[in-house]
Amino acid sequence: MMFSQIRSYDNYIVANLQLNLLKDHGISCYLQDEHTITIDPLLSPAIGGMKLMVVDNDMEKASELLDSVEDDYLKTVACPVCHHTSLEKITHVDHPTGFWPKLKNRLIGGSPASFKTYYHCTSCDQTFSSLPV
Ligand SMILES: [Zn+2]
Repeated sequence: MMFSQIRSYDNYIVANLQLNLLKDHGISCYLQDEHTITIDPLLSPAIGGMKLMVVDNDMEKASELLDSVEDDYLKTVACPVCHHTSLEKITHVDHPTGFWPKLKNRLIGGSPASFKTYYHCTSCDQTFSSLPV
């Protein structure tokens, strides 16, 4: 079975909640680097966080499941600028073609592609690199 990264996390609790959500729906998955980061959280940025790995055959089902949970949660978070609950998550996936960029991404993030996520308010057009608290 081949596994691929679907998400990465700095937070142990969120990582395990989403891991168990997928397992409850019968999806084969595991957290890579969970123990390393639990022992030394300062290593998290260096190795790309805890990586949620999903079996390739279930990738689409897992992605839809995680997206729907995140969308439901986003509907409850207010924009810190305009206070509307109109945030959306935007993920850019970069698939480099060169050997060295792919190697760099694999070493840092465990996947040849790199992922960048940010949040956009559709009401006031502001963007945030992390979810506002
Ligand atoms: Zn806003």
